[in-house]
Amino acid sequence: MDKKLIKSSACEIAKAIKNRETTSSEVYSFFQKRITKLNPSLNIFIDIYKNSSSLGGLSALAGVPIGIKDNISIKGKKITCASSILASHKAVYDATVIEKIKSSGLSLMGTTNMDEFAFGSSTENSCYGPAKNPWDKTRVVGGSSGGSAAAVAARLVPFALGSDTGGSIRQPASFCGVVGLKPTYGRVSRYGLVAFGSSLDQIGPITTNIEDCAHLLNVISGFDSSDSTSAKLEPGDFTESLGKDIANLKIGIPKEYFDQGLDPEVKKKLDQAIDFFKKKKVKFKEISLPHTQYAVPTYYIISSSEASSNLQRFDGIRYGKRVEADNLLKTYQKSRHQGLGNEAKRRIFLGTYSLSSGYYDAYYLKALKVRKLIKNDFDQAFQELDAIITPTSPSPAFKIGQKTEDPLSMYLSDIYTISSNLAGVPAISLPCGFTKNNLPLGMQLITKEFDEATLMKLGSAFQQGTDFHKKIPELGNV
Ligand code: GLN
Repeated sequence: MDKKLIKSSACEIAKAIKNRETTSSEVYSFFQKRITKLNPSLNIFIDIYKNSSSLGGLSALAGVPIGIKDNISIKGKKITCASSILASHKAVYDATVIEKIKSSGLSLMGTTNMDEFAFGSSTENSCYGPAKNPWDKTRVVGGSSGGSAAAVAARLVPFALGSDTGGSIRQPASFCGVVGLKPTYGRVSRYGLVAFGSSLDQIGPITTNIEDCAHLLNVISGFDSSDSTSAKLEPGDFTESLGKDIANLKIGIPKEYFDQGLDPEVKKKLDQAIDFFKKKKVKFKEISLPHTQYAVPTYYIISSSEASSNLQRFDGIRYGKRVEADNLLKTYQKSRHQGLGNEAKRRIFLGTYSLSSGYYDAYYLKALKVRKLIKNDFDQAFQELDAIITPTSPSPAFKIGQKTEDPLSMYLSDIYTISSNLAGVPAISLPCGFTKNNLPLGMQLITKEFDEATLMKLGSAFQQGTDFHKKIPELGNV
């Protein structure tokens, strides 16, 4: 059974439990042992739980263990956001997604490494040090949900949750060769997620395959009165779209996403994926999303402004480790100076600056206007298209340390993912091939708001005809 567990999807594991071929506690201890063996060299898990706190449910995924990004609240457990300031902080309530996971009978395996407060694209901005890519340990896992993506790639858990403000589920999914979905803004409750950019954040599934993705989205999505941005929609069943015919769907190829800066190996794999879909009678059209070039600056102004406001509470008084000083102001200053890392400070400076009087109109307000133009580009495109295809990131996973001294080049690794956060639309990264050096690559599919169903359709057609998602990194005999 053990060898089989590594190759099995979460759905297959749940079926094996139901058919009494194994039990949920056997599955749990198998993955726990695997984590104990592999985590010291990969640095993927932050907290490894001793036993599961599942309530035993009847869902299609009951009994399957899951990894949780360390910015989602699990009652009574540490939640650090990979920041020194929260190193000993414990959550006092369950996030809505955790309540749903528990009542569906999934078991919690532990929390995964990330960039501090989700600021980053490589999981190097973590107070626990960088996570290592299971395909090549000298390379980054992507970020900020890098621990979750790498955990799934290394089969330390069958699936995991991440959060995505500007690409943090999809970019690490592409660097690690797994499936990562950012649902529509409002699809999944953020109650209990430590806020980064509140107008952009979404929680979403990271899985080895599209079927697990649909099932996990079923578990976590739905209206929640505790999150005022959550959409009042009837709960849907995303698995209904799996295996559906994709002939005559119309997909746009935005020319701005295939420009200079795109690694030729990534481009080649995207062309092959487009050919695959053409053979399934999908129609393609070259389109333009003319405001794409403004997405990176717009995103960094809006997300940093929101972050600077959201992070005010981590001051050593309301939340976080306190460094005592002579007076209150110095206590704030010392606590934040010692407790927050450089990237968090950079975001707070940038955000505070663009929100301050005299600069607000020139930066923050301007960025909100450009955001609207970016959203209009998508609205217009989706009047005649069912989906848009792009690379997920311009390159495969880069070397650890390669971009840490150059924030701008780090920010550019999200150039293809951030527009869908600004527009609020759903987007998925799917494995679409490997480089000559055996590094995984991802393609991104984007649809209009609340049309995750089309992503499921396209993703399942692609995975029925390809086996990139079945490849597992070689990690020795464990
Ligand atoms: N890498 C982007 C950033 O640093 C996105 C992060 C995210 O989605 N949480 O802001």
